[in-house]
Amino acid sequence: MSDVVVIGAGIAGIQAALDLAGHGIFVHLIEREPSIGGHMAQLDKTFPTNDCSMCILSPKMVDVSRHPKIKIYTLSEIEKVEGEIGHFRVTIKKHPKYVDEDACTGCGDCVQICPVEVYNRFDAGIGVRKAIYTPHAQAVPAKVVRDAGHCIDCGLCYDVCGPDAIRREDKDEEITIDAGSIVITTGYTIFDPRRKSQLGYLLLPDVITSLELERMINASGPTGGELRRLSNGAGPKSIIFIQCVGSRDMSIDRPYCSCVCCMQAIKNAILIREKHPEIEVTICYMDLRTYGKGYEEYLERAKRLGVKFLRGMPSDVLADKKGLTLQVENSETSEVLTIHPDLVVLSVGIGPADQTGQMAERFGLPVETTGFIRPLNDALDTVGTLKPGIYVAGTVTAPRDIPDSVASGGSAAMRAFIDTARTRSE
Ligand code: SF4
Ligand code: SF4
Repeated sequence: MSDVVVIGAGIAGIQAALDLAGHGIFVHLIEREPSIGGHMAQLDKTFPTNDCSMCILSPKMVDVSRHPKIKIYTLSEIEKVEGEIGHFRVTIKKHPKYVDEDACTGCGDCVQICPVEVYNRFDAGIGVRKAIYTPHAQAVPAKVVRDAGHCIDCGLCYDVCGPDAIRREDKDEEITIDAGSIVITTGYTIFDPRRKSQLGYLLLPDVITSLELERMINASGPTGGELRRLSNGAGPKSIIFIQCVGSRDMSIDRPYCSCVCCMQAIKNAILIREKHPEIEVTICYMDLRTYGKGYEEYLERAKRLGVKFLRGMPSDVLADKKGLTLQVENSETSEVLTIHPDLVVLSVGIGPADQTGQMAERFGLPVETTGFIRPLNDALDTVGTLKPGIYVAGTVTAPRDIPDSVASGGSAAMRAFIDTARTRSE
């Protein structure tokens, strides 16, 4: 039976891989980052159930790593794709980790001793990691990676590593895989709010993104779950969420709704108010989009907890003597309010992952004007593509939430499975 290549190991790719492997198909799971898990691994809780994100994701990550029919390739990217349904040949480039994965036990001694601290992308910029690091506490594979770009080659980690797993030299490896079908689930990237400089991101320390807030309120995040103003380390007394940053905004050519930000803001507002009823939380919005199962009830729960909803969008966030200041017109009453929040959270939208266009070109797939890959049919075939044997799932085609991503991952897996069954009977 032909193998299947799944590209992207976020929740949609993980679901696709597990479903295929569960049907006896061998899966090659390719991931660009050093750990599988995708963005879901960065989130604190999920809406509308308030499940701990890692508590529901981590068992699936472990299942993937232990499944005899799944091979994981991390720090790997697609180089070339040739062939057609039933007979694809996929060439991947595996980037160097400077660590022997088989020898490394994941003990972390090297991480402890490494003197270099750098910006931690996983903690969305509010935490640091070492030059040799484990991607995060529940990373799969649970091995370290040496970041040669920041390593000062002090040699301390080589000395401390019992199994002698750290390599001074390492290089890209090219691997070729034969597969009957391909599932693309390469996900999204968050909007860079510096494009809306009037909102003060990276100019004012107490203006953060929704992803930074997720890391901050996460018990295993850089502040141990404590809310902090980045300007002075104090706990905020008032927080304003600004919705639709990088969504539904023609001025920056982002006309679409990002689908998840309203619910994410409501969820984080609930979590904050439940833990800190003394903190005033206000969500500034254009429209609240609570379209899914249990979502409207979740909004009502937020209101009962005292979360304030203000229909109006602040145009600027400025610094003043009190810290931050912003003006917003309540579009329901026409009243103009001046607010001095301690913390501003920008609910950043989601867009196509970097290199989506390049990858689509390699596969010969069309992209939308938004930059997402176009599925065969937005109503009737959302996982098929113009290329037989190539399927798409998760946020590679449009913004969608976790339940939808999981469903589309399973659906794409089933289509790939049908291909392999057909090839076998021919
Ligand atoms: Fe431990 Fe060596 Fe692996 Fe570092 S590289 S985690 S010291 S086994
Ligand atoms: Fe850190 Fe590099 Fe020194 Fe190892 S050699 S401890 S990775 S700085």
